Parts: sequence; structure tokens; C-alpha cells
Amino acid sequence: MRFHEEAARDDYDVVVIGSGLGGLVSAALLAREGRRVLVVERHDRAGGYAHAFRRRSYRFDSAVHLVSGCEPVPFEGGGFLHELLLGLGVRDRCDFVRVDPCYRVEWPGLTLDAPCELESFVEAHVERFPKQAKGIRGFVEDCLTIRGEANRAEGQVTPGPLAGPERFPLLLRHRRATLADVLADRVDDASARAALAALWPYLGLPPSRVSFLYFATMLMSYIADGAFYCRGTFQNLADALVASLQRDGGELLLRVPVRRIVVEHGRTTGVVLENGQRVSAPVVVSNADARQTALELTGSEHFPTRYVSRLRAAKPSNSAFVVYAATSLDLADADLGHETFLYPGADHEAAHESARSGVPNWLSITAPTRVDPSLAPPGEHLLVLTTLVNAAAAPSWRDAKDRWMDAMLAHAERRLPGLRDSLRFAEAGTPRTMERYTRNEDGAIYGFDVTPGQVGPGRIDNQTPLPGLFLAGHWTRPGGGVAGVVRSGVRTAGLVTATG
Ligand SMILES: Cc1cc2nc3c(=O)[nH]c(=O)nc-3n(C[C@H](O)[C@H](O)[C@H](O)COP(=O)(O)OP(=O)(O)OC[C@H]3O[C@@H](n4cnc5c(N)ncnc54)[C@H](O)[C@@H]3O)c2cc1C
Repeated sequence: MRFHEEAARDDYDVVVIGSGLGGLVSAALLAREGRRVLVVERHDRAGGYAHAFRRRSYRFDSAVHLVSGCEPVPFEGGGFLHELLLGLGVRDRCDFVRVDPCYRVEWPGLTLDAPCELESFVEAHVERFPKQAKGIRGFVEDCLTIRGEANRAEGQVTPGPLAGPERFPLLLRHRRATLADVLADRVDDASARAALAALWPYLGLPPSRVSFLYFATMLMSYIADGAFYCRGTFQNLADALVASLQRDGGELLLRVPVRRIVVEHGRTTGVVLENGQRVSAPVVVSNADARQTALELTGSEHFPTRYVSRLRAAKPSNSAFVVYAATSLDLADADLGHETFLYPGADHEAAHESARSGVPNWLSITAPTRVDPSLAPPGEHLLVLTTLVNAAAAPSWRDAKDRWMDAMLAHAERRLPGLRDSLRFAEAGTPRTMERYTRNEDGAIYGFDVTPGQVGPGRIDNQTPLPGLFLAGHWTRPGGGVAGVVRSGVRTAGLVTATG
């Protein structure tokens, strides 16, 4: 990859601020259309939260563990990433390895593997909770139906009520529902409800707060579409999008922050880079934090007061504390999933709250070397320990980091005896680390929280009220996670095209 200090030209058709996956998807699609596109990234590599890093002979994903939609499937809206990469001519640059079961959940008295196939997923839960068979089946059917309806609804880019509301009965019924609301309607047993909700950390909110619509879409994307790891790290996915961009004449400028978005005569006309270079473009797509885009890079005076108030009032998602470790433990006997969620019990609300009183009482262990041994030398495994936390949970992360890392390793050791003696490497990432590498406020991992009020039309739209300025990524529609930001990038490119 080439490192530039200045953009090759002073004018482009489109400038994209940030090379997270949402920004790169928009950039690659617009370059494919023949537009002259410049992507400006402040980090030294592309990808945002999809970037990977190397330590000694280990390769770690900084954040992403799994994605969906990497193979063609017979479900409405399925195989989305596969289709996109195919359309961009770079599908062969990503070798996606199928992960099945998608995840394992454990708490005292429960061990459950979640298979990546609809009927098997239902059966695994029914086998564990036979008296809840009808409710479990009904819940999964609701998830599948609402995912199809949500997919169709996202296709409507014009603002306002849904055209043909009769096509969206479940979506309209559950649009304000949380996951807990729908589970309570369908399933009587608290443990069965908790097992079905086990993937809540993937959206950062417990069942009582997460949007059912978004959770159902996310869960079904893995269960119906399949869960995948990108061999060689998810950096390869980001690099494939960069390759598409560059093949179509686009440029990527690394290690250069955008300092300011320029507004003239009531519309954006380009950006000023940190190095002082002024780059003109009638369209600016920001993949950066939405609040920073409007309030810091542009200036609140350029937006309607209502828009600014809405942005200020919107609630960002949690951040994460991550331990990146390498071990010589032989995981063959450890009976771990690709990702194993270790909860103290069936109370996800208490687990989510536990960070407030010290180190969280739960974590997930991801073992990417089980599907991709090339990430570590032979005989060693990578283990990524993740828990969710608000940046405010520690007054100083510099001071708290080692204590948290020790506590996470001690927690994992209870499940993997001998872990600490077999450690070859361990390093932690705090909310401040997440923020430092992506500039997401307080290290938010999914943009704005995906509560019922902050998804669908309740989410900040991809087209801002300022002519020429668009958003792509997890702060905007449809929302967080790789599947969300890839769709967001497609949606934004479509809006740019539609506006001429
Ligand atoms: C620990 C963790 C685990 C996760 N696991 C998963 C998972 O398993 N599966 C999944 O689907 N999702 C997962 N996610 C969520 C997912 O990674 C994100 O939602 C998604 O990658 C965000 O993409 P984005 O396009 O919004 O851009 P981001 O990744 O937020 O990137 C934004 C980019 O903009 C750049 N930027 C910001 N400001 C400027 C500026 N002024 N000038 C130039 N550049 C700028 C940043 O440097 C950054 O590169 C995880 C997130 C975290 C943190």
C-alpha cells in the first residue's frame, strides 16, 4: 500500500472522510460509477474497526470477530456481502471461512451451541428447553419475518411513512419493541429467553433496551446467512474494498486527518486536510463520528437547530475492553466455540450493569486460530477476551488497564486452567484505545445505541440537511456492525447517485 502525504489533485467528485467499512463501501461503489473519489484516513491503514495489527509473529483483528452474508443463500436479502464484493470484482480477494456453531453460551447449568442453520438453531434450543418448543419456534419465525420486512423497508430511501404498509405488518407492530418485549410474549421460561438473547453483546445492549427489529435482523443474518471469519484477518476485507477503489481510479490518503469540512453558499464544497491542503468536491461523505462531523468538522451553525438538538440528544453505544492474548495451551481439549460467552447466570441485565461496580462479571472468549491457524505460529493459539464497558467506568484507563486485564485473564483462567502459565503474549485495548484508533466518541463500538427509538427512521439519516454532505457507517442508517455499515455504505452511494 502506498502512503501519501497529500492528495494527488486538489479537486475530486467525492471526498470520503474515513476508511471504515461503511466509508470504503460508498467510496468503492461511487468510483465504480466513474466518479473521481478520494478517501482520507487519519490512521496508517484502512479499515477503522476492521483493521488488524501485528505483534511479534501474531496477527490480531482489532475488533471484528464474525460477519455474515458471505455466501449466496436462498433468503431475502441474504448473501449481501458476497454480492457486493462480486459486483465490485474483488470477491476473490477474501477467503471467508464458515464458522458453525456461530457461538457458544455458558453459565452454571447451561451449555448451548448455536448452529448456523435455522432448523438446527431451533432444535438446539428446543432440545434444551423442550417445554418452550412452541414459543422458541414462534420467536425465530418472528425474527425471520421481521428481517425480511426490515430489508424491504430499508430499500425505501425516500423519507416519510412506509409505502404499502400492508407489506410490513410485523415491522409496524414491533417497531417500538425491545427484544425483552417480544421474548416475554413468546417464551415463558426465563432461562430459555436468556439463551435466545445470548448474542446481545453483539449489539451492546441488554434485552430490555435493544431494538427487537435490529436484534432479529442481526441474529438471523448469522443463523440464516451463516457466520464467517475472513482468513488472514478482516484487514483483507478492508483491503479488498481499497483495491476496488484504486482499480477504478480512486485514491486513499493515509495518516492524514480531515481538519474541516468547507461550506460555501449553503452547501459543502470540500474539505481542508490537517496538512493544510484544500480539496474541493461537491460531495463529502463522512464515515467519521456523526456528531464530530456536524458539530466539530462542519460547525453547528450550518445545520437546522432541530437537527443539532437531535444529534446532541442521541445516545452513543458502549465501548469495549479487549485482551489480545496468545497461548501455547492446546485448545483441542478445551471444548470452546469460535466465540464462547461466559455469563454468571441467565440475567443479562445484571451482566450488562456489572461494569458499573468494577470489572464486568462476564466476557466472551474468541479463538480465531481454530479456524485460521495462520494467525499464530504452530502450536499456539490467539485468544481475544472481550467485555463491554462504558468509557466512564474508569476515571483513568491508564491506571485501570492492568487491573482489568488481570481480572479478565483470571476470569478466563477459570474456564481454561493453565491459561496464565501458558501465555506467550497479552495486551489490552481500553475504550480510549478504541477511540484513539477510530475517533469514535468514547470508543463507541456501534455508533448510536440501537434502541427502538434510534433505529429505522429514528436514526440519523445518511443524507444530512446540509446539501452535499452525507454520512456512511455505524452512526447512521441502518446501524452498527459490519452488516449494518456495509448496507449503510450502499445506501449512501445510492443517495449520492440519486442527487446527481
Ligand atoms: C471490540 C469490537 C468488536 C466488534 N465485533 C464485531 C463483530 O464481530 N461483527 C460485526 O459485525 N461488528 C463488530 N463490531 C462493530 C463493527 O466493527 C463496527 O460497527 C464497524 O466496523 C464500524 O464501521 P464504520 O464504517 O462505521 O467505521 P469505523 O470503523 O468507525 O471507522 C471510521 C474511520 O474514520 C476515520 N476517521 C475518523 N475521523 C476522521 C477524520 N477527521 N479524518 C480522517 N479519518 C477519520 C477513523 O480513523 C476510522 O478509520 C465490533 C466492534 C468492536 C469495537
